[in-house]
Amino acid sequence: MQKKPQSEFAKLPSVDRMLTSDGAPSLVAEFGHAAVVKTTRELLSEIRSAIRDCATPDVTTTTLLAEISSRLATSDMPSLRPVFNLTGTVLHTNLGRAFLPHEAIAEVSAVARGASNLEYDLAAGQRGDRDSHLDDLVCEIIGAEAATVVNNNAAAVMLVLNTLAVGKEVPVSRGELVEIGGSFRIPDIMARSGCRLAEVGTTNRTHLKDFASAIGPETAMVMKVHTSNYIIQGFTKEVPESEIADLCHEHELPFVNDLGSGTLANLEDYGLPHEPTPMDALKNGADVVTFSGDKLLGGPQAGLIVGRKDLIARIKSNPMKRALRCDKMTIAALSAVLRLYRDPARLAERLPVLKSLARPANEIKEVAQEVMPACHKALQGLAEVDVVDCESEIGSGALPTRTIPSCGLAIKLHNNGKSGSGTQLNKLVESFRALPTPVIGRIQDDTLIFDLRCLNDETAFIAQLEKLELKL
Ligand SMILES: *Cc1c(COP(=O)(O)O)cnc(C)c1O
Repeated sequence: MQKKPQSEFAKLPSVDRMLTSDGAPSLVAEFGHAAVVKTTRELLSEIRSAIRDCATPDVTTTTLLAEISSRLATSDMPSLRPVFNLTGTVLHTNLGRAFLPHEAIAEVSAVARGASNLEYDLAAGQRGDRDSHLDDLVCEIIGAEAATVVNNNAAAVMLVLNTLAVGKEVPVSRGELVEIGGSFRIPDIMARSGCRLAEVGTTNRTHLKDFASAIGPETAMVMKVHTSNYIIQGFTKEVPESEIADLCHEHELPFVNDLGSGTLANLEDYGLPHEPTPMDALKNGADVVTFSGDKLLGGPQAGLIVGRKDLIARIKSNPMKRALRCDKMTIAALSAVLRLYRDPARLAERLPVLKSLARPANEIKEVAQEVMPACHKALQGLAEVDVVDCESEIGSGALPTRTIPSCGLAIKLHNNGKSGSGTQLNKLVESFRALPTPVIGRIQDDTLIFDLRCLNDETAFIAQLEKLELKL
């Protein structure tokens, strides 16, 4: 066995010497004494074992401190941070869904900063109800009799089922037994809410008589689930909501409609395909409607429940409601977003989701032409960058088959031959993900596509491109 290079160990500074050398005090000021000591110990121990393996590392205090500083900076970075969503999917569940309007951000930070009247009635000077900040506002915007809000729409569906149908049967069309992703599957949610699913009809065709024969003494309610993320085409039949509602009402059963996205605006007014609204669902006879706060509504993660007063009152008094309640930041954000709906004329300017969705392709093309040269330069001649037409998706399960004409950049590596072209492209994708604000695009036909529909800060995007490190 080779002799251990004792002289290398001797060169290694002690933790104390590291902490008193130039540059250490500023690290301590930034990250704290304990973190600097811990990282220093870890690094020195790694170096000791490298020396045992006969390495001769550079152990000057300057080099070591630079490494410590870089490690501390990396580990101090928040795990959750902003990215550029250039995937072309506007409401991207993995990328945080709706971006909030600045009005909402301001109101969130105002209530986050200090005390608020979350559960305090300012007029009466006594204990109040946190739901009061939203319920009437939701009713006003939607024209519903009553409303309540919980943490997300999955929670809304569970709470409604558990309140209205625990221990009983709930008929649902076989064509609507959806999986939304992230393990939200109607049959499982039904079971966990304490209800029994009664499957009705077939996958492609469900008739009113199927619902009629599914209703029995054990039935508690009938549920319709919006098939958010797929469509059934061809030989199909779906029973109109109003007919299911009439049938339910003949039997004195509530009809519940889980809309999923449930926009509050008429999307056709903005040149977009129609998506059912909670107003439509109520008009078509639903007694309770559930939908998300952070899909087309354009707000924070939340689940809205609207409908008949007596049913909402029962839902609100379910003890599970307490476990599913929204926090003050959600309430602040949702209230700010809902109040924007009072002025439909300015909504598309003020609500980022709608603004992004309604953004015309020619405007996006101008952005593409503006950022293209910087992108080309950052790629150091390794790739071709073109402005291309592409198609965006709404996302979050809304309108799964309809795309919106958009524009973006297509990045194609010159060295894109058969041998390892996939991995070269993947390395390029990784380089963009490694930027201070990671850039997330999509790959299509061996090309990296950046759909620029959701890029609203070109300056920030261009500014960080000089930090792109290509490791191809
Ligand atoms: C998205 C969706 C849900 C879940 O909503 P979250 O707000 O994500 O919890 C439930 N049902 C349908 C039909 C959906 O589209």
